[in-house]
Formats: sequence, C-alpha cells, structure tokens
Amino acid sequence: MSAIRLARGYTKRDKIIKFSGGYHGHSDSFLIAAGSGLSTFGVPNSPGVTQGTAKDTLLAKFNDIENVKSIFEANKNEIAAVIVEPVPGNMGCIPPLNNFLAQLREVCTNNNTLLIFDEVMTGFRLAKGGAQELYNVKADLVCFGKVIGGGLPVGAFAGSEEIMNYLAPLGPVYQAGTLSGNPLAMAAGYEMLKALNADLDIYKRLEEKTAYLEKGMRSVLEKNKVEFTINRVGSMISVHFDKNPVVDFETAKNGDNQKFKDFFHGLLNNGVYIAPSSYETWFLTDALTYEDLDNTVKAVEKVTK
Ligand SMILES: *Cc1c(COP(=O)(O)O)cnc(C)c1O
Repeated sequence: MSAIRLARGYTKRDKIIKFSGGYHGHSDSFLIAAGSGLSTFGVPNSPGVTQGTAKDTLLAKFNDIENVKSIFEANKNEIAAVIVEPVPGNMGCIPPLNNFLAQLREVCTNNNTLLIFDEVMTGFRLAKGGAQELYNVKADLVCFGKVIGGGLPVGAFAGSEEIMNYLAPLGPVYQAGTLSGNPLAMAAGYEMLKALNADLDIYKRLEEKTAYLEKGMRSVLEKNKVEFTINRVGSMISVHFDKNPVVDFETAKNGDNQKFKDFFHGLLNNGVYIAPSSYETWFLTDALTYEDLDNTVKAVEKVTK
C-alpha cells in the first residue's frame, strides 16, 4: 500500500499494473483478481472497492511480456508502477519463464515506470537476497513481510535513497502508523534474520528437501496415473490436478478443484497438513526431516490411489 503510494507520488502518475492472480495484501488497489484467498471462495474482486480505485489498476497476464507491452502502449506515460510477485505464490507456485522478470525490468526502465517486487513470500526464502538475487534482476522498490517478522506481524518496503527520500518526513508522500517499527515485531524479525545469516546453508538444505519431495510425489502420482502438474522454485512447490503447464492465473484455474479438496482432506486424515487451497504454494520448513518427507509421499500415494 505504501510502496504504491510512494511510486505514484514519485512518478506523478496514477495507474499501476498488477498481474491476475497476484496478491499484494488487502489494500483496495490490489483486490482485483487477487489470487488465493478470493479465488478459493470464487470471488474475483472484492465488494467495497470503488470503481474509481479499480480503474487505476490495470491487469496483466503473468509470463506474457507482449501483454504487458500492449498495456503500456495503451497507457503511455500514465503507469506509475508494475507490481509483481517475482515468483507468484498465490495461484500455486508459478515460475517466471523466458526471462520474464528481466523483460519486465526493461519495459519499466524504458517507460520510466517503477518496478515493484512483492517479495513478501520470496524474500529471505528463495535466497538471502530473495528473487532479486536468484534471478539477478533489480527492482526499484521491494516489499517484505512474513519471514522478516519471525512470526510477528510486519511489513516493510525498501528502495534506493532517492526514491525513499520522497517519503515522509523527508519527502511529501505520507506514511506513518501506530505500529510502525513496533519494537516487539522488530526484535522478532531481527532474531529471525540473524539466525538465517548464521546458517546460510539453509537455502541449500531447503532446496534439496523440496526437490526430494517433488521427486517422490512425481513418482507416486505417475504410478497412480493421476493427471497433474508440479511447479517448484526452491522451497516453494505446488501440485495442480491438471496435466497442462500452469504458467499464470488462467491455467491455474483449470485445475480440478474437487480433486484438490479430496487430496487436501485425504492428506489431513493421514497426518499431513498442506496449504488448504489449490491457489496457495506450499513452503517447506527446515524442521521437516527426510522421514517426514517420506511419510508425506506415502500419504500422497495412499490418497491418490
Ligand atoms: C501475504 C502476502 C501479502 C500481504 O501481507 P500482509 O502481511 O497480510 O499484509 C502481500 N504479498 C504477498 C505476495 C503475500 O503473500
């Protein structure tokens, strides 16, 4: 919410581009085709968001750079920012294809539009430097949450000094809140990041564990002749009950939702608790042992038989 306000203030433009199926919190501008929470309940857009607000949010297709370029063409010098989950995790896990992020970077630079990476899920999860490090693409503003709170509620955003100085109290774009910089949440987040810094091998371990889970699930799903797609980036992984590639919101919606429900409840009855929506990525935790992963694969085999 604040990053978008800053981008609009800095560029003196109103419109933003978000991607269908991308989730960026519950602020009005983003509750348009916003992925997991709303989609699970079949609500495409939230009531209570005014037409006036909605009209400044332009929807693009993830992994489709030509679509993004055509929106820029139709809105010349009007787009303040493109906000994107670099690896979307709210329509399943969707890997960026064909250098999509680098291409977005180029289009934004050419149009003096800010590129905002919403790394609330990917930040400090895919790598110490998040998706920016993994894909070697620099955004103008980056949003964080989840991991950086160490379990407490936190949101943060960052950017170059020039852009951030446009924010109050140095600049004219207002941002403040009773709980901004809340000491308890800052302490929890600081400890979390310190623990990660002290053990950077965690990213390799998580990658290996998740690859192991992927391999195990693929083999039992194939054996059980299930039509499926598994997407994975690092320790983010999702199972879709559709044999076609899942590359954006449209293709994520094609999955068999009833089958996913049966899968979810079947796993739960077998002691495995996955994210309760086919639109949510799974995140692995380093606390999971290989025995846990073997048991998960066994449960997947049992419930899909
Ligand atoms: C969870 C999430 C948010 C919102 O974070 P809140 O703390 O709920 O505001 C924003 N972006 C992404 C990608 C998320 O997954």
